[in-house]
Amino acid sequence: MDNDFPLNEEEIDGYVKIDRYNPEKVARIASHYNEILALLGEDPERQGLLKTPERVAKALQYLTHGYDVDPAAVLRDAMFEEEYSQMVVVKDIEVYSMCEHHMLPFFGKALVAYIPNGHIVGLSKIPRVIDIYARRLQVQERLTNEIRDCIQDTLNPVGVAVVIECKHLCMCMRGIQKQNSVTTTSAFTGEFAKERTRQEFLQLITASLG
Ligand SMILES: [Zn+2]
Repeated sequence: MDNDFPLNEEEIDGYVKIDRYNPEKVARIASHYNEILALLGEDPERQGLLKTPERVAKALQYLTHGYDVDPAAVLRDAMFEEEYSQMVVVKDIEVYSMCEHHMLPFFGKALVAYIPNGHIVGLSKIPRVIDIYARRLQVQERLTNEIRDCIQDTLNPVGVAVVIECKHLCMCMRGIQKQNSVTTTSAFTGEFAKERTRQEFLQLITASLG
């Protein structure tokens, strides 16, 4: 499966929207960052930093643009009736998000599996749903559950499994834990919530996440 998120209409809409930053918000966030730079002991007037507050303001708006998109609507737009009833697995989905405690990035890979119950969804929509939730201030645990719930509530499959592995810069850079530690979270519904199915599933996918 292609790791690049394919551009689709929603995504284009998202970027169009993001290209039109709210100028008042940019100015207000930038003025705060101007002060933050000074409080950090920097000179906000030196050449390299002159445009930094504005860049940060735009970057933050981009990194949180998931608040403005409805992930369930993205799935509903690409649902098809289909009798296929075996497990569908989408793996190696890139995840980039920001922890809500430190506003530092966490990033890694996600795997989503579901067992259809009369409906399937366009495969590119699964990474898109992950991206919409990831572009908000998050904790990895909630991100995992939100993705699971959105797919379960919209697609109504026999079961959903979501596994996410991420490195958190708030852990790596602040030296609280081993630098290379990875956090794994998982969430299941339906068939996947049954102990035996889940164990088989986890054994099946462990190698592919490493
Ligand atoms: Zn953090």
